[in-house]
Amino acid sequence: MTFHFDKREDFSTWFTEINKRAELSDLRYGVKGFVVFRAWSVMTMKIMYDIYEKELESHGHQPVIFPALIPSANLEQEADHVEGFSPEVFWVTRAGKNTTFEEPLALRPTSESAMYPMYKLWLRSWRDLPFKRYQSCQVWRYEGKMTRPFLRSREFYWLEAHDVFATSEEAEAQVLEDMQMTENVVTNRFGIPAITFKRPQWDKFAGAVYTCAADTLMPDGRLMQLPSTHYLGDHFARAFGIKYVDEDEKEQYAFQTCYGPAISRIYGGLIAVHGDDDGLLLPFELAPIQVVIVPIPKKGSKQAVEKRCRELEKKLRKAGFRVHTDNTDRRPGDKYYHWEMRGVPLRLEIGNREVEQKTATVFRRDSRERIVIPLADLKKKVQQLGVALTEELVRRAKARFTGAIRDARSIEEIEQVLQGRQVARISFCTMELEGEACSDKIKEKTGGETRGTRLDQKEKPFGPCVVCGKTAKAVTYVARTY
Ligand SMILES: [Zn+2]
Repeated sequence: MTFHFDKREDFSTWFTEINKRAELSDLRYGVKGFVVFRAWSVMTMKIMYDIYEKELESHGHQPVIFPALIPSANLEQEADHVEGFSPEVFWVTRAGKNTTFEEPLALRPTSESAMYPMYKLWLRSWRDLPFKRYQSCQVWRYEGKMTRPFLRSREFYWLEAHDVFATSEEAEAQVLEDMQMTENVVTNRFGIPAITFKRPQWDKFAGAVYTCAADTLMPDGRLMQLPSTHYLGDHFARAFGIKYVDEDEKEQYAFQTCYGPAISRIYGGLIAVHGDDDGLLLPFELAPIQVVIVPIPKKGSKQAVEKRCRELEKKLRKAGFRVHTDNTDRRPGDKYYHWEMRGVPLRLEIGNREVEQKTATVFRRDSRERIVIPLADLKKKVQQLGVALTEELVRRAKARFTGAIRDARSIEEIEQVLQGRQVARISFCTMELEGEACSDKIKEKTGGETRGTRLDQKEKPFGPCVVCGKTAKAVTYVARTY
């Protein structure tokens, strides 16, 4: 049994097949746009949630839980926000057969309009600030585009942090801190390389002053947005009446930010970025099972081999690893396929020779190497190999991303770059609203989106705007996107 789908040549089929074969999700639920997430993906997403929650809390955020229903009047309080979200909102209008709600209730598409009326009640004085809260929850948006498990569905799982500050400077510093957290977690812990952008003015969150977001490169050359963070200025504070009394006893509107890492989407990125033609490939820290033990007994040695496997499982579990011994009656080859497809990082193969020589044969999922190690070194070696595997995944992914960026000096060149499933780097007139016409022209001719300017490095234009020929004020990236 092998996996016959080539990730680079036909990413779409590869992604569909891996979802089925590794039992990550199921599309047969029966409500359009809604997807069932199965155990193997949920176990990893729980680990991801845990890492992200700890990161937010270490930066001063406290957890809250808000209701999923939002009164329609709340949603309508910030004009740009309601305009941006209203086409996607699911409404709850009745209970049972006979009770119709006077005011329809929205299933939260995002929680600004759920949280901020409460913030108005809670925040009084400069002493209450900064005020940082987050929740882990799902949100619902009526997406028109085709559903793809994890990458796009009408219900998805995220964390949303909503922070309040006395000054615009502190709020803007939070935006940068959010992007730093993105790097700490998404890149350094989940191993997904990302470029952080300040988005163009025409592509910001509904109601925000500006939006920053991280993009990763998918195997088909498209960029996918991972966490985004928004500087809201005092727009929402004015709309929702979030005020505080400053040190001079004067009433002031507060400044706000919000940050939304979507765990289910990042998980989709994880599958896509690290998986290979043999299936899923999980970083060591995120694997529900980090080490699978496969007994390979010959006739008459079943007991001795199984006994050794039990000892090793116990030893590794005690050392803190997530371990599983595959005692099913499948043949060893079928067991290999099963766990490789699910991306388990390390496999211990234990047969007669290993029992006699007090060794273990370790198979490394990323390089497909087999290494024989003495049992005395087992814990240390498993740890080292786990770290090395994750580092290798990150190295590969970063090299692929960096290698996929090409400078382009005309719309034709952009088109060639995108056709080669790569990302174009261009000089561009401006990221302010006046630049939108040039961006639209690029989109129309090449299908590519203008992603904004990099936050992680300053870049100098290397020519005039590729569209209008005016002096370029920005360097931007153009790619097809998810
Ligand atoms: Zn231009």
